[in-house]
Amino acid sequence: MPSSTVRRCYVGRFAPSPSGPLHLGSLVAAMASYLDARAHRGKWLLRIEDIDTPRVVAGADRVIMGQLQALGMHWDGAPVWQSQRHALYRASFEQLKAKGLVFGCACTRRVLGSGPYAGTCRRQPPPASAIRAWRFIAPAGYEQFNDRWMGPQQQDVQAQAGDFIVKRADGLWAYQFVVVVDDGEQGVTDIVRGADLLDSTARQRVLARALGQTCPRVMHVPLLLDENGRKLSKQNHAPALDVDHALDTLNLAWQNLGFAKLNNADSLQAFWASALQHWARRFNI
Ligand code: GLU
Repeated sequence: MPSSTVRRCYVGRFAPSPSGPLHLGSLVAAMASYLDARAHRGKWLLRIEDIDTPRVVAGADRVIMGQLQALGMHWDGAPVWQSQRHALYRASFEQLKAKGLVFGCACTRRVLGSGPYAGTCRRQPPPASAIRAWRFIAPAGYEQFNDRWMGPQQQDVQAQAGDFIVKRADGLWAYQFVVVVDDGEQGVTDIVRGADLLDSTARQRVLARALGQTCPRVMHVPLLLDENGRKLSKQNHAPALDVDHALDTLNLAWQNLGFAKLNNADSLQAFWASALQHWARRFNI
């Protein structure tokens, strides 16, 4: 059945962390989410994920916005900044607390070690004064979903991730939590992003349901790896995008999504028009 019969109006988003300018890896994810939103005649929102303040680089948000615009990727409506949405996060956190779905955890990093959380503070609540972080009670059993690129997925969240953190020991809201609150509040129906976040999806789905939300459809696109097989990232000093040669840059990202170079596209408009047709055909939109 073509997905044009989907009743909910498509809302997609690109949610960069402003820890530096976009690089080719983040452009691949942005391009895929942009094309999917436009192919569905949906909305494409921009959300600046600046909640993890120690990682934020001042001005990187504006640089990212400039890069998107230079490449002809225009978002709908006003962008949102997570750093301005604390009241929203607090309200959702209180909702989870009222439902008894989170608990305070006093464990230190040393006690925790690596691997899934063992549930110590869930079984034996610490005194309020000792609470460092807040964790969500992961449900037992497999969380199953279909990824539009990667196919059927399943994860036993309790066994593989354990009760995961929604509010960190340093007082900051955790990525897993804010991303779900934001996607719910912004009415996001479709998430298209890099495959490094595939592993987070099951956690985000159980959290979304706990908050009474409908889980968005997901598509995780393959990551761009450097010559050592590591994810291309700002931390690995991925080269900045060349927006002065926008068509070459776009074609590079496009080819990394597995498509053939669009040789005949001689303007941004022509590039996007052609890419959209290919995308819609490939994903039967
Ligand atoms: N802010 C995240 C990142 O830049 C993406 C979050 C998401 O798409 O869910 O990796």
